[in-house]
Amino acid sequence: LREYPDAKPMTEPTYPRPLQFIAGEWRPGGAGSAAQVRNPATGAVLAEVPKADKRDLDDALAAAQGSFDAWRKTSAVERGAILKRAAALLRERTPHIARLMTLEQGKTLPESTLEVTLSAETFDWYAAEGLRAYGRIIPSRVHGARQMVLPQPLGPVAAFAPWNFPALLPARKIAPALAAGCTMVMKPSEETPASAIALATALKDAGLPSGVLNLVFGVPSEVSAHLIRSDVIRKVTFTGSTAVGKVLASLAAENVKPCTLELGGHAPVLIFDDADIDRAVATCVQGKTRNAGQVCTSPTRFFVQDGIYEDFVARFSKALSGLVVGEGLASDSQMGALANGRRVQAMESLVEEAVAAGGKVVTGGRKIGDTGYFFQPTMLEGTPATARPMQVEPFGPVVLINRFADTAQAIREGNRLPYGLAAYVFTTASATAVTMSEELQAGGIGINSFAVSHIEAPFGGLKDSGYGHEGGPEGLMAYMHQKYVHHA
Ligand code: NAD
Repeated sequence: LREYPDAKPMTEPTYPRPLQFIAGEWRPGGAGSAAQVRNPATGAVLAEVPKADKRDLDDALAAAQGSFDAWRKTSAVERGAILKRAAALLRERTPHIARLMTLEQGKTLPESTLEVTLSAETFDWYAAEGLRAYGRIIPSRVHGARQMVLPQPLGPVAAFAPWNFPALLPARKIAPALAAGCTMVMKPSEETPASAIALATALKDAGLPSGVLNLVFGVPSEVSAHLIRSDVIRKVTFTGSTAVGKVLASLAAENVKPCTLELGGHAPVLIFDDADIDRAVATCVQGKTRNAGQVCTSPTRFFVQDGIYEDFVARFSKALSGLVVGEGLASDSQMGALANGRRVQAMESLVEEAVAAGGKVVTGGRKIGDTGYFFQPTMLEGTPATARPMQVEPFGPVVLINRFADTAQAIREGNRLPYGLAAYVFTTASATAVTMSEELQAGGIGINSFAVSHIEAPFGGLKDSGYGHEGGPEGLMAYMHQKYVHHA
């Protein structure tokens, strides 16, 4: 491992002062500053993030309400054209936005670049999907009458997005909501404001009417309570931890508002004796270290069948220990810093608790250096199922690995937890792939793959991982209600 600060100093772009975007105007926080944005690679303060006061929030709500009628009546073609222009601007600006993202979030520059590209793709995809918000005509009970289903936008949306994918997760909410004809007040993460601001800037420059999208920042619990309880808001969408999701769901329930909740997971990976080991190891290294493991679908609980267990552990741990961990802007970094100091502490406690419960460190296990938030890619073997690390989402570069004997045990282990977001299987046997696809309780199943979230497909969890979907036609319909018209 190359330890930061051995990395060469990089030229950093100037990090812009984060501002709120309310009724088409940029403005500071009425209550001053909510928090500092830090560069996870150095710990250096990049900026202060605004703190909304009640007036800011009420103005954002009024803007979302005031612009809704005209926006819902704007044709899907025109709404889509604005989204497409914004996508083109994001593509043009990708190198700049990607550098800001790496500065504020810590991921490597290629990861940030890909994320901006996927955000632009999300805008394009929903620009087109908005044209296909088809209703239906139902065969009538009486000749000459019409029985029609008309999808209609729900109204102004309150949206909350986290820091791990600071452009893509906001894009997955903004694009379908706007394509459906909804307006939005979004609170992106206070820790990574520049990426979401870049999306809003692209939309403004693309001609989005004032008030259709508003960004506010502040104290998350105060902002969310104020927005969700407002009579203006007709839909709530949140991506983040299960604990916070439960709080927001109960706030929404006070006034019977529909919610989409994309929450946590603790994804099992079941590697069968017949797996292609070379491919499985390469895929697991890439999948586990993507975004330094800070992904809700990150593979976390690995179970390897007895016949290949030793071989797989040896190859996987060797590959993990050979990775270059360093500043996200450095061209040779394969894994960047964790996004904040809380994650480093969480990884240290996780390793400590796993070892105390009988787990063994195969590789890694430590923080790297004293500057920034770097942690070694880590593998822990033999941590018992009852230990906390096997039950609580790690959200970091840690592999918990154990063995299994047969398919029945693989299914039991895969379904052990109250989460149900993603589950993965490595096998060359199609019968095993079919059985596991049927039996695993998760919203997304990857077979020889960790790619379970594509813009054209629905993505959403079961059980404690949330409800509702983003992505695909389902992601558009999440912002629409189905109006039934009987025309006699
Ligand atoms: P956290 O649980 O406090 O926050 C998670 C996210 O929710 C953050 O973006 C935060 O700004 C936001 N948030 C917190 N309280 C809120 C509130 N009352 N109203 C609205 N938004 C609120 O903790 P954290 O340290 O930021 O992250 C810790 C855990 O959160 C991780 O271990 C992971 O399990 C989970 N997480 C999940 C995702 C995901 O993609 N599903 C993303 C980020 C964090």
